Amino acid sequence: MTTIGKISAECVICGEESEHTSITSSNAMGSPDLDLRPPEMQRSTMEWWLQECPACGYVAPDISESVASIKAIVEIFEQSKTLSPFVRRSALLERLGDLEGAAENALHAAWDADDRGDDDGAVKSRRRSAAIFKKTLNDIDQDAEEVLVAKVRSIDIFRRAGDFDDARKLCYEVLDGRPDSTLTKIVRYQGKLIEARDVAAHSVEQAQQPDDPLRTPSRGRGHGGGNGKSWNSEIWDRIKRFLGFQMNR
Ligand SMILES: [Zn+2]
Repeated sequence: MTTIGKISAECVICGEESEHTSITSSNAMGSPDLDLRPPEMQRSTMEWWLQECPACGYVAPDISESVASIKAIVEIFEQSKTLSPFVRRSALLERLGDLEGAAENALHAAWDADDRGDDDGAVKSRRRSAAIFKKTLNDIDQDAEEVLVAKVRSIDIFRRAGDFDDARKLCYEVLDGRPDSTLTKIVRYQGKLIEARDVAAHSVEQAQQPDDPLRTPSRGRGHGGGNGKSWNSEIWDRIKRFLGFQMNR
């Protein structure tokens, strides 16, 4: 279960003291989606992933933590406060040169838009996330397994944004890198979804069941991750290790 508490934080930008909800503990039971959105209960804790200063609008996992560039932050604040906190956090991290963090937060913005039924916002954030993830891949050794995992994840981000050509291209790229059987299964499953022009959320668990691949798509925050019988949570643990679980950026 998820337990939460209240903490007080002094904004590093404007000095305003404010109260925030913090997640004391949570759990993830079942399968993540193919873009690694976690299952419940973690799935429903997104509203507490970022703190927002009520006075100046600064957003961060911890708004009291010191930051490298005040100038960049002030510029981001000039954007509308009506944008989601995840969108603003993503823009800030991109400006500060933390591309992985920027891509991750753009993806979180898409999940948040999914939950609010904002389809256009979700597509926009997914495209932005995929474009930034692409840039981060250039900086790593191309043979590294992390690159393969990041590419596999990007396939899902492109597919769910409806960019089927980019998603398909990435499938071939990954298969050329001779991934192991787990990743190969996921990529083949993605291939079927792409051919079916399916933009719904599907879980890693579904991709591991190639005999009946397209049944019961998961969608939105209610996705509980299946009954778990055939689900091998080791796969999830392994993927988490590869990517680092970057919920707090
Ligand atoms: Zn503030």
